[in-house]
This record gives sequence, structure tokens and C-alpha cells, in this order.
Amino acid sequence: MPSKQRNTTATVLKLLDERGTFWMFDCGEATQHQILHTTLKPRKLEKLFITHLHGDHIYGLPGLLGSRSFLGGDEPLTIYGPVGIKAWIELTLATSKTHIKYALNIIEIEEGIIFEDDQFIVEARLLEHVIPCFGYKVMQKSLPPELFIEKTDALGVPRGPLLRQLKEGHNVELADGRIVRSAQVTGEPKDGFQVTILGDTKFCENSILLSKGSDIVVHEGTFDQETADLAGLYGHSTIVDAANVCKKAEAKHLIVNHISSRFMPSDIKGMIAQVEHYEFPIYVAHDFAEYDWANGQLKKIPSE
Ligand code: ZN
Repeated sequence: MPSKQRNTTATVLKLLDERGTFWMFDCGEATQHQILHTTLKPRKLEKLFITHLHGDHIYGLPGLLGSRSFLGGDEPLTIYGPVGIKAWIELTLATSKTHIKYALNIIEIEEGIIFEDDQFIVEARLLEHVIPCFGYKVMQKSLPPELFIEKTDALGVPRGPLLRQLKEGHNVELADGRIVRSAQVTGEPKDGFQVTILGDTKFCENSILLSKGSDIVVHEGTFDQETADLAGLYGHSTIVDAANVCKKAEAKHLIVNHISSRFMPSDIKGMIAQVEHYEFPIYVAHDFAEYDWANGQLKKIPSE
């Protein structure tokens, strides 16, 4: 439920450097209104992952899908989600005579690898909520190693296509017959990032399995320790549950979202105090909170 301080859920993974697009996880009511207050362009939305079919996670879809078309989005869009998402979207668009001009691909998923290309793998696992609900892990594949230009220059490799071959791991032959090996002029391949974005759930084993080794885990913390009985009752987690998932999974950073509307912004300090003894950074997200991932570090971007 929205409050004056907090809107329903939508989480964005910006991949503008990697693929010129962004991916979205859930699309609560008024997501397209909130996007207007950001730099995000709906036409750059490439993939939308729905965790479960509760209204606070999907009621923003029809409006966003329609506006994306109206705003000139003509690239295909793929939506992943539990069984039922396809029928709901198609009926809603048909009944309201919403005509979209791009290819809309809706995939009803099961557990396992649901997407893979040369850059990314996405894995889904079922969590424990009151209806079927998925968590998603996005794994970036290893990045090509750095090419040391000062070394290629020293060896007399001309600037041009040979450099690219060396960067891609191939050995090359120079005009004078000398062989330059890729390993001579490149660094180590770099690991890609791993981010796990979980839907509504109580503390469960699959959250831990999915989060294993993640750089960043985004976990709901609807409740706190004082309201832990409600978390159990409604299939949700406390902020302490979220921290325990992260700890058991040996994940490196935790962002807690989906805070109940019962908590005022002034209550957040108290929630954070319940988890401040954990040894990894924990952030409680507010609306429009943005985080930057660079050089293995997660930093909150200061809000205006
Ligand atoms: Zn729910």
C-alpha cells in the first residue's frame, strides 16, 4: 500500500554503459509517474521482471507499457513473471484498447536460468510468500582483460585491428614475423557483478541460495523486530531476516526495500539500529534512492 512518504515497488537496474538500456523489477502503481522525476526514458526499458502478481507489484504495468509506445519506444520489450502474468496483461491491454507498437514478449517462467546472452545470465528461484513469488539473480559474465597500450607500443604492435585481436585473447604475428602473445600485453579478466533482487518473502533457503556470493542483495524488509509476528503471518521478512540471508549467503552489500507504510521516515534509524552489528554495509532504500556500483564498491548517490 502506498503512503505519502513511500510509493509501491519498482526497482531499476541501470545498464546504460553495458547495453544502453535498463531493466526493471516489479512495476507498482504509478511507476510511470515516478519515472518522470528521474532521468530514465521508458523507451530504454528492455526487460521487466515481475516477482509476483500482488497489485502493489504489477498495477503500474498497463500504463507504463502504453506510454512506452506513445513515447516512441519501438525496441522489443520482454516481461518475465509467474504464470498468470500473460493473461492479465493481454486482457488489460485488449479491454482498454491499448495498442502498443513494439514487440511485447511475455514469458511465464519456472525456476532456473531464464535468460542468457554474451553479457548476462539471469536465474530465478521460488521464494516463500503467500502466492508464488520469484527472486532473480543477475550475473554479469567476465569482462575482457585490460590491454596495456604501453606494452604493445614497446613491442612495436601497430595501432589498429591487431590490438583488438590481442585484447580478445588471440596471439598475433607482426609484419617482421615476430609473434606477440595476448598474455604478454593484457591483464587478468575481470569478474562481472552479481546482483540478487528478491521479491516478497519470509526468510527462506532459496533466498540464501540465490544470493550466494552476490555483490549486492536487494531484499524486502517489510517489518522490524518488534513486528516480527506480522512478518510471519503475511509471508514477509524483517530487516533482521534480510540481513541474515545476506550473511548466510556471504553477500557483500544489502539494500533493504519494501518497508511497510506503517513505518515513518523517522522510524528508519531504529530499523537500521537492529542490524548495525552485521559486518557488511546495509542500506534502507527510500523512494528514488540511487546506488552506484564501481570498482567492487556500492555507494549511495547523494539525493537532492
Ligand atoms: Zn506480495
